[in-house]
Order: sequence, then structure tokens, then C-alpha cells
Amino acid sequence: MKYFLAIIGGGPAGYTAAEKASKAGKEVVLFEQNAVGGTCLNVGCIPTKSLLYGAKQYYNATHAQKYGVTAEHVAFDFAAMQKRKTIVVRKLVAGIKQRLNNGHSTLVSGFAKIVSRTDETVTIQCGEQTYEAENLLICTGSTNFVPPIPGIQNNPAVWDSTDALAATELPQSIIIVGGGVIGMEFATLYHELGVPVTVIEAMPTILPNLDQEVVQVLLDKYRKAGINILTSTKVEAINGGQVTANGTVYEAERILVSVGRRANLQGLEALNDLELNRGAIIVDEFMKTNLPNVYAAGDVTGKVMLAHVAARQAEVMVGRLLKQIPLQRIAYNAIPSVVYTNPEIATVGLTEQQVRDFYTEMEGEAGLAKAGGVETFYEVRKLPMTFSGRFMAENEGETGLCKMIIDAKKQTILGVHCIGNPCSEFIAAASFAVRNGYTLAELQQVVFPHPTVSEILHEMI
Ligand code: NAD
Repeated sequence: MKYFLAIIGGGPAGYTAAEKASKAGKEVVLFEQNAVGGTCLNVGCIPTKSLLYGAKQYYNATHAQKYGVTAEHVAFDFAAMQKRKTIVVRKLVAGIKQRLNNGHSTLVSGFAKIVSRTDETVTIQCGEQTYEAENLLICTGSTNFVPPIPGIQNNPAVWDSTDALAATELPQSIIIVGGGVIGMEFATLYHELGVPVTVIEAMPTILPNLDQEVVQVLLDKYRKAGINILTSTKVEAINGGQVTANGTVYEAERILVSVGRRANLQGLEALNDLELNRGAIIVDEFMKTNLPNVYAAGDVTGKVMLAHVAARQAEVMVGRLLKQIPLQRIAYNAIPSVVYTNPEIATVGLTEQQVRDFYTEMEGEAGLAKAGGVETFYEVRKLPMTFSGRFMAENEGETGLCKMIIDAKKQTILGVHCIGNPCSEFIAAASFAVRNGYTLAELQQVVFPHPTVSEILHEMI
């Protein structure tokens, strides 16, 4: 049989595309070498959130005095937390398989390799069998990047995030190289379970791509709580559990390296004229590559490495392939993202720095001077989260911060950046506002339920 669409990789991009195209009655074959669900479901978003939730329960129980509760003999069982995590993952994987069980999609287990491609047919080998399809969608994802630091390779003390998630015992102590999203989420997990944590970040700040005022709230809290966070610190060498950075030696039982991820291109060698940019596949706004019947979605495109972006890219791609009118595009200006620290950080749209950089580049020195400075182009509104009554009731000792970036002329909301629990649960409301170009006056007319932490968005107006 010749399939309409062959998909390599069963992560959020791959399974979303398979479900959408097969539901439309198209014959789809989906190749996955591990479990469906990809990195996010099996060794990323879901297992980390399961473990982080366990750690938060323990942490809250041991810090409940501020709410008038004393809990004695509080203990945790890390192996039990891991077991629960595995069950959560297994159930979700089964759910995805169920969703693909619609008579039009075929799931093939194994490593898929492109054999050949013409504009009419892509031929793929998996195991002993070959498969033909009219169109190909590459969703091969990404893997943890291993930086060229001496002593990192074949060092049993060194973990990546997948090793850390598989461990059944907690380390006695840990050094985390890279204070990005993965690094800070694992720092939270280990710290809340009582493991001494050192974070070593090469840039002058952790989470360098986020709003830095928001990040500063986290930094202050984590440093005060005893997490050793070193910034502008470059790792020079690793030897067993010893890390030499800026001339000083730090030691721990384990070293977790989380310095970014790189696109997976294995199996695609036969597509030798596929255009890449810095090791990731170049796609247009409909996820089409430079080859007529080849598309790519998710981390392999190197655009925004987030599961929800991958899934949305897949939806857009299938819409384009099925020629659905109106053709949809992705609103890259309104992608929400969350860092599951405690407190959580949730953000959508442009940061103040991005707006400043944009106008500085557009106007140039002379243009900015004439306009009266870059600040004339945007407004910033800020409030501590304590302006929400619900936040006050549930976050003793925390202040949090919510920051809104507004287009000065149009009064539209360009970005919202928050720190404070549970901002991950209402950032979608801010995404609506940014995605639909709401003005402050329009947002003002939206009724927010009381008492909820989401009211902070309304307080801002
Ligand atoms: P990242 O890009 O978020 O952070 C990597 C960090 O490592 C950066 O701060 C960088 O400056 C630092 N770094 C790089 N080289 C270094 C070195 N030699 N020494 C010290 N620091 C160094 O990457 P990540 O944390 O590995 O995450 C990978 C991807 O997965 C990201 O795109 C992230 O968005 C995604 N992810 C998302 C979530 C979420 O949405 N909650 C969770 C985990 C991962």
C-alpha cells in the first residue's frame, strides 16, 4: 500500500499529525523507535512534573507551619515517587495509542530510515520492511547536547536529564551544569527533597531568555533557600564528580549536564539536499521543507523546543497538506511557556528586552533620539502577585511578580510574564489576549472569577 503520509517520530508533533490526518480519512504510517509520546511524555515534561509534584507535597508538608499546620515524621520514598511517575507515563502512552486506533493509522515500532525520495514517493525502511508514502513528515525531535568539556564523556558521575529521571535513588549531592529550563526544574526537584544543589551557568544569569525581573525573584528565593547558583561561570573540566569552573573545584556525587538540546537527523541521510540551519531542518510557515513533499515539525526544526509548539506545528502542517481553508498559521508571537520551579514562572509574548531590541534595531540611534527614547514605544505595568487575594491566602511569605508589556500607541498587550503559584494555570488567558491582539480596554471587559490568582491580569489594567 502507498500511504498518504509517513511520519517519523511519535512525539507530540508526530502523534498529533497522525491523529489529525487519519481522522480526516487519510492513510498514515507512523514510525517510532521507542514508546509513542516522545521525549515529552516518556523522558521530559510528564515524568518531571510527576516527580516535581511529589517533591512539592513533601516540601509543603515540611513547610506547613506558616499555615498553622505541624506535620511530624514527614518522609518520602523516592522509589515510590518513581513508580508513580512510571504509571502516569504508561497510562498516557496507552491513551495516545488509543487515539491512533481509528482504522487509518498504522503504528510501526523501530528505527525508520529514508531509502529514497522523488516528488511523488518517499521510500522508508524500518526493520526488514519498506514502506512508500506520497508525503513525509519528519518529527524526529532532539537529544541532550553534550558539550566538548574534557572529562565529560564516559564519566559515570555525569547524568543527562534522561539518566536523572531513570535513577531510583537520589544523589547525595548534585552539580547542575546549565541554569536553563531543565537545569532549574531539576534544581527544584533535588532541593525540595533535601539534596544539596549547585547550579553552574555560563551566562550572567539563569534562564537567560526570560524576563530578568521575574527571574530575579526566583534567584533571590533559591539563593536564600541555600541553592548555590553560580552565574558567569564557565566549566573548564570534569573529573569524576569534580567540576573545575572559573579556576575553582566543586564536588558532588552526580553532575547533571543540561546545556540545551540538538535536532535528531539520524536516518535522514538519503535526503542529502534537505536544507538545514545550524543542524536543524529549515521549514516555511506551513512546516514545508525545501523538498516538495517533505515537511518537518517539532524540535527537529529548532524553532521553539516546546511540546505544545510541536503539536501546533503538526496541526498547521496537516491543515496545509489537506488544503483546508482557511489555511492556518502559528502565532509565534503568542507562545506561552512555563518553568516548573517553585514558584512557577509562566510567560507569553515579548519580553521587555525583546521589545527594546526590536525598536532599537528598527529606529536606529537617531530615530530613537528623535522619538524621545526607546521607552516611548512601550509601557510596562507591574504588580506583586499579592494584589490577588487568593494568592495571599495560599502563598504565605511570597510576593511574586506579574509584568505586562503594552504597545504604547495601540495599547495592545505584547507580553505577560509572571512568577508565583499557580501562574502556569492562567497564562493561557494571557495567551488569548496576546494572540488576539486585545487592547487593555478589551481585557478590562473580561470577567475573571473571584477569588483566583488569574485576577492579577485584571488588576493590572
Ligand atoms: P536551555 O537552552 O533552556 O538552557 C541551557 C542553559 O545552559 C542556558 O542557560 C545556557 O546559557 C547554559 N549553558 C550552555 N552551555 C553551558 C556550559 N558549558 N556551562 C554552563 N552553562 C551552559 O536548555 P535546556 O534547559 O537543556 O532545555 C532544552 C530544551 O528543552 C529547551 O528548549 C527548553 O525550552 C525545553 N524544555 C522545556 C521545558 C518546559 O517547557 N517546562 C522543560 C524542560 C525543557
